[in-house]
Amino acid sequence: MSFLCNSIKTLGFSGSFFWKLSPKSRVSRCHLSAAPQRDYSLKMKVAVIGSGISGAVCASTLAENGVSVSLFESGRGPGGRMSQRRETTEDGKELLFDHGAPYFIVNDEEVMGLVKKWEARGLVAEWKERFGSFDQISAEFVKIDEAPVAKKYVGVPGMSSICKALCLQPGVEAKFGLSVATLEWPKEGNSWLLTGLDGKNVGHFDALVASDKIIAASRFSSRTGRPPPLDKNLAPELIEKLEDIPVRSCFALMLGFSEPLSSVPVKGFEIKNSEILSWAFCDSSKPGRRGPSGSGECWVLHSTAEYAENVIKQTGLEKPTDDTLAMVAKELLQEFRKTGLPLPQPFFMKAHRWGSAFPAAAVAGDEKCLWDEEKRLAFCGDFCVSPSIEGAILSGLKAARKLLASSGIDQ
Ligand SMILES: Cc1cc2nc3c(=O)[nH]c(=O)nc-3n(C[C@H](O)[C@H](O)[C@H](O)COP(=O)(O)OP(=O)(O)OC[C@H]3O[C@@H](n4cnc5c(N)ncnc54)[C@H](O)[C@@H]3O)c2cc1C
Repeated sequence: MSFLCNSIKTLGFSGSFFWKLSPKSRVSRCHLSAAPQRDYSLKMKVAVIGSGISGAVCASTLAENGVSVSLFESGRGPGGRMSQRRETTEDGKELLFDHGAPYFIVNDEEVMGLVKKWEARGLVAEWKERFGSFDQISAEFVKIDEAPVAKKYVGVPGMSSICKALCLQPGVEAKFGLSVATLEWPKEGNSWLLTGLDGKNVGHFDALVASDKIIAASRFSSRTGRPPPLDKNLAPELIEKLEDIPVRSCFALMLGFSEPLSSVPVKGFEIKNSEILSWAFCDSSKPGRRGPSGSGECWVLHSTAEYAENVIKQTGLEKPTDDTLAMVAKELLQEFRKTGLPLPQPFFMKAHRWGSAFPAAAVAGDEKCLWDEEKRLAFCGDFCVSPSIEGAILSGLKAARKLLASSGIDQ
């Protein structure tokens, strides 16, 4: 049997040939999962778009099962909404911020199994600090949680560490700074053809996983002036579900203080009765982080969705200008000062806009991902399950399973 597998390889048959076999014969010809050495080229070649947690989990699950994965990410680094931002101050100090998701909680047993593995590898740790709620009207903490209701997990040393490790896994070849601009399905080729923004062909693939709904949404055009990468006619039923998923926006304000905020009795708090601010987190209190100049602290504030939507209404969907971000930074800091808590002057502040911070609907139901068997096309991401890291992990896992099952690969 292994002779046949080797022959397929040495004769130079592509992954597409492999797909032309029925799922059963694909398996019976190559029992690769039992082979001592993984061969990442024979089973199938899959393109995964996006290195957020759903894409990264999907890519690593496929690679663990012997699939050759090429992952494309338009951002400079991995993580998507779990990114870590590196900033350098005018005097050369380096600051790191989790400016997207600050932490995550886990309820699902399967996700917990993965998180425990990541914890054992030092990629994840529990954030054990105290959290609370602050009331902006009475200007006092109305609740301080002595014991957390659920464990809060963070990536170590940054939220992006998990995605980074998954993208470096054997069998996954990740390319950053590459935006996929078109996705074609030439019928005769029976495979996906991907092209980058510069018009260059980035490869043919037996199957495609897209982990961002924007790839098929008309909103892509209002942001970029280009048609969305995936043509509606290629998978109309599936794309219809992605068209108008409502989203909630958020501005994050990154703050660097050279001394600790000793008047704040907690390291994370919800701000109630504010139209502008929703949460504040002491980012440098997470495991594996350091504050600026030893005793200083890095904080991240999150705006309310209403505030973000108002700003976007006034300034448009395009990338926000420096002036807009400076105005937002000033307003969020002003609101933070309205807490009445004595705050030192930050030596660093910068705002970031998350235009689609949270999907406000989940489109995949119990399936947890969207799947087109004929075209071997999967969509995964938090928009399939729930607006959270846990939801995105579940969706990425499910998309990988669909692909493996439909190709007859033992899991
Ligand atoms: C401010 C904020 C606070 C949050 N707080 C929490 C929280 O407390 N707890 C929690 O569980 N969750 C939280 N979340 C939500 C959580 O971050 C997301 O649910 C999760 O990270 C989504 O992962 P994803 O893989 O589905 O999508 P993403 O992380 O968005 O990944 C999609 C990736 O695809 C890439 N991409 C898109 N188009 C292309 C293209 N054409 N070519 C190449 N690459 C492309 C994008 O650049 C992106 O990296 C928060 C999010 C934000 C923004």
